[in-house]
Amino acid sequence: MLIPTLREVPAEADTISHQLLLRSGMVRKVAAGIYTLLPLGNRVVKKIENIVREEMDRAGGVELQLPIVQPAELWRQSGRWDVYGPEMYRLQDRHGRDFCLGPTHEEIITSLFSQEVNSYRQLPLLLYQIHNKYRDERRPRFGLLRGREFIMKDLYSFDKDEESLEISYRKMYDAYNRIFSRCSLDFRAVEADSGAIGGDVSHEFMVIADTGEDAINFCSECDYAANMEKTPCHIHEKELVEEEGPLELVATPEARTVQDVASDLQVNTEQVLKSLFYNVDGKLVVVLVRGDRLVNETKVINYLGANRLDTADSEEMLNNFGIPMGFAGPVGLREKTAVTILGDLEVKCLFNAVAGANKTGYHYINVNPQRDYQVDHYGDFRVAEEGDPCPCCGAPLQVQRGIEVGHIFKLGTKYSEAMGATILDEHGKEIPVIMGCYGIGVTRTMAAAVEQSNDENGIIWPAAISPFDVLIMAVNQRDELQAEFALNLYQKLKRAGIDVLYDDRQERPGVKFKDADLIGYPVRIVIGKKAISEGLVELKWRATGELIFKEKDKIIAYLQENLTAMKSSKR
Ligand code: ATP
Ligand code: MG
Repeated sequence: MLIPTLREVPAEADTISHQLLLRSGMVRKVAAGIYTLLPLGNRVVKKIENIVREEMDRAGGVELQLPIVQPAELWRQSGRWDVYGPEMYRLQDRHGRDFCLGPTHEEIITSLFSQEVNSYRQLPLLLYQIHNKYRDERRPRFGLLRGREFIMKDLYSFDKDEESLEISYRKMYDAYNRIFSRCSLDFRAVEADSGAIGGDVSHEFMVIADTGEDAINFCSECDYAANMEKTPCHIHEKELVEEEGPLELVATPEARTVQDVASDLQVNTEQVLKSLFYNVDGKLVVVLVRGDRLVNETKVINYLGANRLDTADSEEMLNNFGIPMGFAGPVGLREKTAVTILGDLEVKCLFNAVAGANKTGYHYINVNPQRDYQVDHYGDFRVAEEGDPCPCCGAPLQVQRGIEVGHIFKLGTKYSEAMGATILDEHGKEIPVIMGCYGIGVTRTMAAAVEQSNDENGIIWPAAISPFDVLIMAVNQRDELQAEFALNLYQKLKRAGIDVLYDDRQERPGVKFKDADLIGYPVRIVIGKKAISEGLVELKWRATGELIFKEKDKIIAYLQENLTAMKSSKR
């Protein structure tokens, strides 16, 4: 075996799962976002893959394997070669032909479909693979949670009409619920944005964890749950209650943040008009929101039908247009440069506000819409927050953080139309096939499980995905009787089909105990003096710390019963 555990917390590890997967000898980093799965980590991945495979098959999925290296030609057909951006690893072969390492496989599978399937009679068809994906992430981090090479299960559904797609989508939705339940994860399915991949309906499966990169809104009263980037914000338009004051330039030499400005000028942050500049598909866009709000970039992208949005570079803003970022605002902005001005709905009724004067060290007070600045479009551009009204029932929304482990989409005909994947329907008419796509991050799920289930001593694996169910060790490996007893029991358990590992290293028991806890096997069996003298074997459950003694002959039945129960119980 190769299980190189570490006592020290590796400096580069930024989350619990990253630390523990390194320390427990499951993974090793090769480059940023690129990992070797060591034997134990590999076993976990295989167990997750098997659960995923069983549930995909049960839902009618058929497994195949698509290539990682994909010709650019297919991506040009779908129109994504130019819009995918720097996340895509691009390469050329010796003849100078363009290829990429697949970040996802819609193009390959749609092309396959268009060549091989032509009748509604062959549908529905659910094709999937479990394979590597490549994405040159802007910020690879948190170990397996955001890798640049990672394992994904991706399934693509092909249906003849919307009703049939609805059935396929439902099957996947249910299968995902079963998969994450079987992995004993605490998770939630939420409404999600469909992003650049296309389509309109989509759900994400979120593992609840404080370290998650996503925020989830869920309703305290009804079933509503959505990714925060998706949650719409409703506002009640306010009437102007006070008189419009005179626009006035005031010196605010040190105030570069909303907080600074508000305290300098003795107003609430709500009274400050915040201006955020973006480069959207090469064009400058400013989004105005209330000072205490955050811009929802996804909403901005969707509103503009854009492909890419980046925060504008503050040096460029100053050098090219004379706009100092800490002091930027909408008043007189158009005189400096051509810019699209988007205003969040709340800003429409923000009167006598404070806003940057586009002059270092100065702000305006009594800034009012219409009179002092014009907005191109008002819309819902802010992030929903805790306490905002639920879009379904109006009760206050709550917020949790989560790790996205799965994402399902209704794609419709975006790819089939672009790539000519058509079928003949019942009337002999040629129609584009209706698609869906469904992903699960296998390696991310592994890390998410650790993120959720650990203590100060290490990982506590859910039994269904633990690298081994049981670890056996002797207190004193040099004691022949103990070693023989342990080996015997190990062989018996193995023959009974129990997933067991025997730690036969000549190490001090303390070292082995520490490793067993760190790695997090659900059950630890220790062969000590009592085993030899009375035939009583010590068993310890990692999750509860419960320690019991069992007669040698009763161990197999006991383990089988309890491990099966653990694997089938939901968290
Ligand atoms: P994210 O918003 O986290 O970047 P995504 O929306 O790009 O995810 P999809 O394209 O929907 O992800 O991919 C399907 C699944 O693949 C995700 O739900 C996630 O579990 C997994 N996944 C995506 N990117 C990564 C990554 N960089 N490392 C590990 N797993 C990933
Ligand atoms: Mg992504």
